Amino acid sequence: MAIWLRGTLSIVYPELNDNILAYFYKTRNPWVMLGVLEWSNPKGKMPMPTGYRNIPSVEKLLSNKRICRLVDEYSHEAVVHLVRSRLEEVRHGIADGDTSPSLDNLVEDMVKRAASLWSPWPRHVVNATGVILHTNLGRAPLSHEATEALLNAAEGYSNLELDLHDGVRGSRQAHIESILCQLTGAEASLVVNNNASAVLLGLAAIASKKEVIVSRGEAVEIGGGFRIPDVLRESGATLTEVGTTNRTYLADYEGAITHDTGALLKVHSSNFLITGFTHDAVMAELVEVGARHQIPVLHDLGSGCLVETTQFGLAHEPMAQESITAGADLVFFSGDKLLGGPQAGIIIGKKEKISMLARHPLARAMRIDKLNLAALTTTLLHYLRAEALDRIPVWRMVSMPIEELEATAHLWQKDVDGRGQVVPGLSTIGGGSLPGETLSTWLLALTTGGLLGGAQGLVSRLRKAEPPVVARIEEDRVVIDPRTVLPGEEDGLRSSLKSALEG
Ligand SMILES: *Cc1c(COP(=O)(O)O)cnc(C)c1O
Repeated sequence: MAIWLRGTLSIVYPELNDNILAYFYKTRNPWVMLGVLEWSNPKGKMPMPTGYRNIPSVEKLLSNKRICRLVDEYSHEAVVHLVRSRLEEVRHGIADGDTSPSLDNLVEDMVKRAASLWSPWPRHVVNATGVILHTNLGRAPLSHEATEALLNAAEGYSNLELDLHDGVRGSRQAHIESILCQLTGAEASLVVNNNASAVLLGLAAIASKKEVIVSRGEAVEIGGGFRIPDVLRESGATLTEVGTTNRTYLADYEGAITHDTGALLKVHSSNFLITGFTHDAVMAELVEVGARHQIPVLHDLGSGCLVETTQFGLAHEPMAQESITAGADLVFFSGDKLLGGPQAGIIIGKKEKISMLARHPLARAMRIDKLNLAALTTTLLHYLRAEALDRIPVWRMVSMPIEELEATAHLWQKDVDGRGQVVPGLSTIGGGSLPGETLSTWLLALTTGGLLGGAQGLVSRLRKAEPPVVARIEEDRVVIDPRTVLPGEEDGLRSSLKSALEG
């Protein structure tokens, strides 16, 4: 039972008796009684609204010492809003039969809510999962230098679109383009917000209102709702699927070409494997077919790597420069997968095609921002200086010597009071790259016998610790993989382990 008065009659003080509710409105002076509400209660029980009596007023809460401190820390408006909405919830709760929380509980709850609602976000977490490109944890961590470049671009003004030499308007793409072309051998490049938009832009600019031929095994969902058939439709192109899920031959592509064909699209199956009796056409052959019929060939690489992954005992991840050498017209890849940079979509290829994309109206909507551009440029410079394996965290993690991982796991074992065992295990790449590929590692496996909530309880306490630690469960043990714990995070990890193990 609640009566709401809007407009000028905003302050209503209910006075309660067992079955009479009187409403007062506070004018400047004196109080005006607005009316009396009476009801009968057939079962003779206490009527429901009695609980309302215990709800403190907004003013009372605002005069509480801890709430005052919140006002100092945030603002009067923000705290009043929080108090009002919390009291509203309490009223709804009482209407549903709950009892009114105590003043202390209310205050405690609001202090907690303020801290969680109004904190900067996202929070730093320690990734102890051993999944290097963990999508839920923000994919690739940046190198120190890339982070500095990002801060530098963020804090002040920059020559983002100004040619300092001539004082005329410049392009935000020009500088990174020369680096990308040098690294990959491409004629031109365009960098956009992410790879999903890169592919969409490419198809919209090249193949709108035309047919795009894709192997049936590649018309797939990459993850996060990115489905090749949907992206094609959104670009205005129509999908022509050829071949079968496991086998597609060059002749399948060639046989499907009509005078409405706008492009041949090859998509790297980033997050799954089709193994066994398989065949797919290689890029160089597709380029030949494309050239014969004057149809552009596009390659969505997904992760897109600039270094050879077989040197780490992994499968070969397609490299951007290989697609360029093979003669692809446009190649698309992500900035924050195996490249190890910030979120970005990188498009490289033939100058004429790239300029069609740059001129397309969608290009402006997908434009890369200055912070990511700064971080990406610096990430690419690591490759140019041949220091990528040492400087880029993703590559440092991939190439980490097994002895180092074992030594670290043993070091952390000392902290956990006989609760840990060092055992061999496997790290993965993640982020839709190199599916099924693993790297040998050493894990600190925590025995959870006797601990509250077992393994589930422990991972949950680790997640809620300060700093939060994300770990995985293997055979009912919580395992910590040193591979993905960054330098500088060790002290935090150790203190979170300690507190989580205390229960
Ligand atoms: C990951 C991926 C994308 C999407 O890239 P984002 O940078 O996440 O937008 C597109 N295509 C393939 C093949 C991918 O693996």
